[in-house]
Amino acid sequence: MAKNYQKIFFILLLLFTSIPPVQAANHDLQVGSADVNLREGPGLSYPVLTTLKSGTALTTVEHSGDWIKVKTKSYEGWLANWLVATPKNATPKAQTVVSQADKLNVRMEPNFSAPILAQLYTGDQVPLLQEQDDWVQIQWQNQKGWVAKEYVAIKAGDATVDTAPNNATFTVTVDALRMRNAPNLDATEIGVARYGEQFTVLNQQDNWVEISLDGKNTAWLYSFYGSFSQAATQQASEQNYTTVIYNETNVRATADTNGDVIARIHAGEKYPIIGVAGDWYEIQLQDMTGFVANWVVSTDGQTQQENINVHSSGQQGVLSGKTIVIDPGHGGQDRGTTGYRGTDEKDVTLKTAALLSAKLQAAGATIVLTREADEYVTLRKRVSLGHQINADAFISLHYDANENSAVTGSTTYYFHENQVNLAMAIHENLMQKISLNDRGVQPGNYYVIRENRQEAVLIELGFLTNPSEEQLITSAQFREQATLGIYNGILQYFGH
Ligand SMILES: [Zn+2]
Repeated sequence: MAKNYQKIFFILLLLFTSIPPVQAANHDLQVGSADVNLREGPGLSYPVLTTLKSGTALTTVEHSGDWIKVKTKSYEGWLANWLVATPKNATPKAQTVVSQADKLNVRMEPNFSAPILAQLYTGDQVPLLQEQDDWVQIQWQNQKGWVAKEYVAIKAGDATVDTAPNNATFTVTVDALRMRNAPNLDATEIGVARYGEQFTVLNQQDNWVEISLDGKNTAWLYSFYGSFSQAATQQASEQNYTTVIYNETNVRATADTNGDVIARIHAGEKYPIIGVAGDWYEIQLQDMTGFVANWVVSTDGQTQQENINVHSSGQQGVLSGKTIVIDPGHGGQDRGTTGYRGTDEKDVTLKTAALLSAKLQAAGATIVLTREADEYVTLRKRVSLGHQINADAFISLHYDANENSAVTGSTTYYFHENQVNLAMAIHENLMQKISLNDRGVQPGNYYVIRENRQEAVLIELGFLTNPSEEQLITSAQFREQATLGIYNGILQYFGH
């Protein structure tokens, strides 16, 4: 949806800029293709001073948000900036922002506490959209964001087209995405990328992204089914301290989970950050330095106890003492698959998870949900939750998709050998309760099971891309049967 608005915005912009100017002189703007109201202040709630005719020449006085204060021959007032255009005979005002810093944060709003959308690296060039106080708004890939003016240079002219800045990463956000040898749907398929897989971006063309497979070979993916990000998502320069979230957090000699543990630090403790390596912070301990994973610490300067919602019924039951993580796939901006009839995968996974949780809790299990609302949770945070509480099982719930709408059925995936038995028990019991095509138990290279030390499985409960299957699997009755099958499988696995 946002993309469509941007498209419309640019089409309008093009239309406006091609309107012949009425006059130039000191005027740097003109009213767009329709008559507009000039208002007393920068907002639709201010009284209208007059209505200006399409093409009326204007002079900019100042900006406030999306509003511009302008002067005409007889009036001074405010106009919405989307209703004005730059006259054609004015000097082209294209300006480019050149980043003067590495890991320069691109933020959603022009202030330092706004969420970070992306980062720019020294020399990255992006189109300038507008300036506001100490901030400039830029166009970055397919989005708009703000960067602090003090870290950029502004030059006249168009940006060197660089829609895929250094180190950009493309993360697949659907369960299976065809890799092709050229950027179009007719191109030869050369493989399948899986949910959560990340690739280095080489090139972008229309809605396609060219990725590096292994340093030698490349492939094209439809970019709608993924998200772009920079390799590093944190900026050390703005955040000089890290606060530990969990007790017994490991500090390692190297920036990876296999690095030797050289110290353990505890919730609430603060350490100076002296460097960043990928997803790790190098921190200063009293007499040494070490690395800590950025997903187990907070950098906002405050202790933020992670919100782990543990649900324990306190009931005695056959699963008493067992802790099970239920992972409803996707969430927030990551919608997962969209069904033929418009079902969002993220919504049905959440409903399914709630039902499964209730059944397991009733049997005495302690349940932790990786999300309980329509929110975005990173894959590594999902896995990390299970590790933190030392869960006995991790169940990831998904609904499948395929370009071929004829494909149907349910699959249960495992990655590590120790996950096979749980996958088998769940799948067998699941298939006894539902009537979908049985695609069996299969190995699958999904992040949430691959990076999981627990007995973890990923269940695909049918294809939303098949119209009749979509209708079936989005019903409450199906969810009831499916969760009953999964529940029976878990009971069987734990020996009951
Ligand atoms: Zn999914």
